[in-house]
Amino acid sequence: MILDRKFPDYKLGLMKFIECDKFHLTQFIGQCPEFYSDTFADSSYNGPMNPHNPAEFEKLPLTLLKGVGPQLAEKLQHLGIETILDLLFHLPLRYQDRTRLTPIGSLQQGDDVVIEGTVAGSSVVFGKRRSLMVKVQDGTGTTTLRFFHFSAAQKSNLQSGTRIRCFGEVRFGRAGLEMYHPEYRLLSGSNPEPMEDTLTPVYPATEGLQQVRLRKLIEQVFAYLDQRQALPDYLPEELREQANFMPLLDALRIIHYPPPDMSLARLQTGQHPAQVRLVFEELLANYLSLRKLRDEARRANAPAFTHKGNLRARLLAHLPFNLTRAQEKVVKEIARDLGHHQPMLRLVQGDVGSGKTMVALIAALQAIESGYQAAIMAPTEILAEQHFLNLDQWLQPLGVEMTFLSGKIKGKKREAVLQALATGQTQLIVGTHALFQNEVHFHKLGLVVVDEQHRFGVHQRLTLREKGRKDDTVPHQLIMTATPIPRTLTMSAYADLDCSVIDELPPGRTPVNTVLIPAERRPEVVQRISAACKEGRQVYWVCTLIEESEALQCQAAEATYADLSSSLPQLKIGLIHGRMKPKEKADVMAAFKNGDIQLLVATTVIEVGVDVPNASLMVIENPERLGLAQLHQLRGRVGRGKAASHCLLLYQNPLSQVSKMRLGIMRESNDGFYIAEKDLEIRGPGEILGTRQTGLMAFRIADLTRDSHLQPKVKTWADKIRARHPEVIDPLIKRWLANAEQYGNV
Ligand code: ADP
Ligand code: MG
Repeated sequence: MILDRKFPDYKLGLMKFIECDKFHLTQFIGQCPEFYSDTFADSSYNGPMNPHNPAEFEKLPLTLLKGVGPQLAEKLQHLGIETILDLLFHLPLRYQDRTRLTPIGSLQQGDDVVIEGTVAGSSVVFGKRRSLMVKVQDGTGTTTLRFFHFSAAQKSNLQSGTRIRCFGEVRFGRAGLEMYHPEYRLLSGSNPEPMEDTLTPVYPATEGLQQVRLRKLIEQVFAYLDQRQALPDYLPEELREQANFMPLLDALRIIHYPPPDMSLARLQTGQHPAQVRLVFEELLANYLSLRKLRDEARRANAPAFTHKGNLRARLLAHLPFNLTRAQEKVVKEIARDLGHHQPMLRLVQGDVGSGKTMVALIAALQAIESGYQAAIMAPTEILAEQHFLNLDQWLQPLGVEMTFLSGKIKGKKREAVLQALATGQTQLIVGTHALFQNEVHFHKLGLVVVDEQHRFGVHQRLTLREKGRKDDTVPHQLIMTATPIPRTLTMSAYADLDCSVIDELPPGRTPVNTVLIPAERRPEVVQRISAACKEGRQVYWVCTLIEESEALQCQAAEATYADLSSSLPQLKIGLIHGRMKPKEKADVMAAFKNGDIQLLVATTVIEVGVDVPNASLMVIENPERLGLAQLHQLRGRVGRGKAASHCLLLYQNPLSQVSKMRLGIMRESNDGFYIAEKDLEIRGPGEILGTRQTGLMAFRIADLTRDSHLQPKVKTWADKIRARHPEVIDPLIKRWLANAEQYGNV
């Protein structure tokens, strides 16, 4: 009897359904005679390549393996597996332990286990769904197997007294501990059946390609390698010796077939030498690929901005403040880059409120004074508008021509904007992604500034670079992020960029005092708002929702607005959310800014960019739903003036352990870098880099949280390899990243 079991795989962040084993392994293999042979099928191969030559091993096609025809090859291709080597580097996502039997009496909810016992009765129950329930006992206890799909034959096979071995996840069901749709097999005879002698790998799989198939194919590859020793190791001898790395093939074998004494818990720590060996190599390949991208980008030509600095001097002369030392340092770094023909690729990191916009503006002025256009792109409409309004106040006196473009600008107005860009009349354009659509033509684009870059992946970064290309000239690129990215993560994700850090806030900011308050104490919070407004302060109330839906977020904000309006009738209350027209939003923001609104109810649209120094109190509802970086961004809207500011995190009980920790970090620290480091530890890199960057951080074995301590060593060796062993760079990248976004699109 062959059964399919489906389970979701979370590692890739997708609810991708992976088909699990056909259970009855030996029987299954019996039906597929090609699996009998372990030996490699090269004897029948007469192609041009010599599979005995290590270099050519890299190119050996899958069809050389027994059992791989065009159909299977196509399925494998879906997984990015095109050669035998790809198969060898198709590493398990996780493992199952089928090396030992678990006594039924000691089953624990959530465990994946093998049990063995005797059927003690079965029955079909008709609940919400018809299901076959089979009681199994082994002398230590009894458990129930539950099948929703079952055949008559299956039912009659599972008679009382039948001996059975099952593998599956233990769950808590109506009948106590149960196993839903376990893989199982009937036992006959009195000899004990052998257990698996290694942990069972679970591979990334795809529809119609079962685990057992992948396993058998990978076994063939190992059998081949055992005979030929053909796998080249690209890590330089000196590295392997100094780091005391185990041989590549041994490491791969352990990862594909971990011995039973290598516990699952141990594997999770990533400390086994086999893991370290492969993780290191993967991080190295990733780093080398980003460096290579950077080298390639540098080879293009960019305009060198030679200018006297007149515009900058005039801007600085009428600013009501001096640049901070940190701003000055970064401005200098950028100015130096912009003076060269080599395209600038620079990431500016600076905490919320550190004054990144000013730095970007000064860069833009350098382009403009040199006769080029500059573009500033923001990820959202509201942020782009905000930039436009902010910049306008500085640019008006300088006589710089600036316009705005987003998807919402349509018809005649749009035509006029495009026209002015194409003729070069517009010197600075601010907008959203709309800036880089096909019908947008620049006259002489010299600088692209991307705000909040962490929301875009490497791929988008590359596309942007290409969009600005004219013949062999590309614009300089400046990327700004308000989510500080921990250093080790920068090395993995941004090694193609130079990095500047604005590590200082303008003077006069008071740290925000953050307090956690359970939702039951909401009335007290409302009183506090009232008191703050009486003192002439202004207040934000931020509504959050788990749902991605903007519509629902807006509804929630509207409800809160209505609610607060009735409990605080004496206050002037405003509402802002993403569904309002740009003009309406701008009006509300303007009213808040000049004090006509005292309490602003908002969705997370105010996350970035909004600047009202007199606002000194912020309430964030359900903060446990947001990432720390986002909370830090939001909180950065207060604490911009002289008054002591407060942020009240109005959380919903009960809080999970992790949420408690995370909110505790918010209370404890105002330092964006520290918060980002902690968020990385607690929630992993996906959250910090923007969760939906598929491909960017999909490593095969490395785990950026667990393995980040290796990053400095990776960098050191990457530099050595670039200097002394450049010939291994491409093979390493190809081996690990051939199908990854970073490389595939170049
Ligand atoms: P962020 O880095 O979060 O984008 P902004 O560029 O929005 O920060 O700057 C926040 C506020 O600080 C703005 O009102 C800006 O005008 C102001 N600002 C920028 N630089 C300085 C400075 N050197 N001194 C005082 N205020 C500054
Ligand atoms: Mg900003």
